[in-house]
Amino acid sequence: MQRLRIADHKIFHAGGRDFLFLAEDNAIFELDADIRQLLTRCACQEELGRADIFAFIEGDTKSAICHSLVGCRVLINTDARKGECRSPALVPLKTLVLHLTDACNLACHYCYHSRKRGTSASQASMTLEVAKQGVDFLLEHSGPLKDVVLVFFGGEPLIRFDLISAVVPYALENAREKGKTVSFAITTNGTLLNERIIRFLYDNRMSVTISMDGSEETHDRYRRFPDGSSSYRVILPKVRELFCRTWEKPVVARVTLAQHPGNLSGMLESLLGLGFSETGFAPVTTQDGEYQLNDGAMTLLLKQFEMLAEKFLDIALKGGFLGFTNLIDLLVTLHEGEVKNYPCGAGLGLFSVAPQGRVYLCQRLTGEDRFCMGDIFGGFDQRKIEGFRSEAEISRKPICKNCWARVICAGGCYHEAWIRQGDITRPNLHYCEWIRDWTEIGLQVYGRLASEDPEYLDKLSALRGHAPMFDS
Ligand code: SF4
Ligand code: SF4
Repeated sequence: MQRLRIADHKIFHAGGRDFLFLAEDNAIFELDADIRQLLTRCACQEELGRADIFAFIEGDTKSAICHSLVGCRVLINTDARKGECRSPALVPLKTLVLHLTDACNLACHYCYHSRKRGTSASQASMTLEVAKQGVDFLLEHSGPLKDVVLVFFGGEPLIRFDLISAVVPYALENAREKGKTVSFAITTNGTLLNERIIRFLYDNRMSVTISMDGSEETHDRYRRFPDGSSSYRVILPKVRELFCRTWEKPVVARVTLAQHPGNLSGMLESLLGLGFSETGFAPVTTQDGEYQLNDGAMTLLLKQFEMLAEKFLDIALKGGFLGFTNLIDLLVTLHEGEVKNYPCGAGLGLFSVAPQGRVYLCQRLTGEDRFCMGDIFGGFDQRKIEGFRSEAEISRKPICKNCWARVICAGGCYHEAWIRQGDITRPNLHYCEWIRDWTEIGLQVYGRLASEDPEYLDKLSALRGHAPMFDS
């Protein structure tokens, strides 16, 4: 006889309705009273027979309801093992980050890169030959994918605008010859933008992310030139020039939060006011207590995220848009039902290339020997990659196995885990509670939007490049 168990789940209430979040599938359903009762009463039972389930369902349709609960995976066959690995198969290369140079013209106090930078003589810089081979490597390893992405990163990548301006036409031409399209992205501190560079980024429909930390006061607290002078005053006119054009892809600000979250709402307002379509906030990754956000600061951060989430919802329900990247990303992950067995694409469809051509798991782990996964001349070190994928998979993190947020978090960023936990494959246990609280805030917003304006969620997904789930 078939034995069933209730899937790991979380029940939440939003907009006067009950919802069910399935932790193994990242699926969300509205709950009716019968099913809610079934879930609450049977929560502690490890196994259920059909008779146990029927006892909680009223009416003549018990069998059909039970069948549909199995179909939706609310009830799961006990033979199906929990947290089983569903990946990885062969993963084509989708995104290649070119780490153009170690050099940077700023000396931001909290920068993970500037602390290991050393003398200018040791600051490596990529040659055009390596950059072109990087493009060939991306196209060659992209398998059946039609669209690939080339990201320019550093140090400060615009120090090597000469290289960017040469490699973009090369990539476009070679992708076209292979029947593929390549798109470009850059993360820059914005200080070197000028009319020529802005036109080039615009003409090549580049996705631009600018590191800015809010108003002049908060930005200049840590983001200064080596002589201690303000970088905000240099960036501001350049950013204004950037927004003289209407960009096809969103131009995004990325705020690094150090020591204290500050006034997030003010920062968001000031950056969106400059013309950025979105702003994302990230606590700095460091072991240095001077810059780390301590527990109190993380609690304050959560409170401010919650306030911004309420503001986002308020604006969304009036048909408007607030470019709060962290919430948009979370809502899209929930809406797309994305099940993460890994926290991000690093070492799967995303790799980074160092100036000398060695390939690393991601941009932040570039240059660390233990995370080198081959090079663009000899190819991937498949044995090492397979070892990483098997170690990093969520089912290898026993503590995450019973966490209801695991398909959203999957243990968290490897770079953060390396800095804070000493090992990239360890779960980031220092922020579990925070992640779960934040995910819960996201679920509340999701529930309200799903009840009152479900199309809004489709629009957010489309903004992130996902095709509509249903044809209209
Ligand atoms: S790191 Fe923490 S929050 Fe993330 S999946 Fe693991 S247990 Fe859950
Ligand atoms: S490991 Fe961390 S820094 Fe690297 S791509 Fe993933 S989330 Fe980003």
